[in-house]
Amino acid sequence: MRVPITDIVDQPGASRSLRDAVDADAFGTDPWGTADGALVDPVVLDLHLDSVVDGILVRGTLGFTLDLPCGRCLVTQRRSHEVHVVELFIDPAKREDDADDEPGYDLLDAATAIDLSTMVRDALLLGLPLRILCREDCQGLCPTCGTDRNVTDCGHADRDPVDPRWSALADLDLPPD
Ligand SMILES: [Zn+2]
Ligand SMILES: [Zn+2]
Repeated sequence: MRVPITDIVDQPGASRSLRDAVDADAFGTDPWGTADGALVDPVVLDLHLDSVVDGILVRGTLGFTLDLPCGRCLVTQRRSHEVHVVELFIDPAKREDDADDEPGYDLLDAATAIDLSTMVRDALLLGLPLRILCREDCQGLCPTCGTDRNVTDCGHADRDPVDPRWSALADLDLPPD
């Protein structure tokens, strides 16, 4: 997603807000890593673009809506997440020669635009929750029969599942010592 910056670039102190709701496609067609298929349109941008001596500082929040499975019962949950970002987009002409590995992104098109795609993707992958629960006391799936215990009481809850490798021992008629 390219954003023109000609109105503020090279004017340190100038700033502009960028509020928009855009489809995930706007950030490119590469897979979204673990969020691929989970991301629900739109991505909500609430950003400030500040002109600084070296380029443009982008800060604010990104709003993502994701369909992710509950970590216990696997039922899909739709949740919204906000990720904070602060990223410097540097004018390549002002990068110091010995600082090629400086973190951050470059201004593009002769310092007239920035591309938010990589920043948005990185922010989502870093900010993505590793595990969600549909509710704190989700009972999850029964380890014995696979039933969703939030929906049906299968009656296995009181017993530990028997490891099938040992179940044959329970049937042996062992002589007493
Ligand atoms: Zn659950
Ligand atoms: Zn069960």
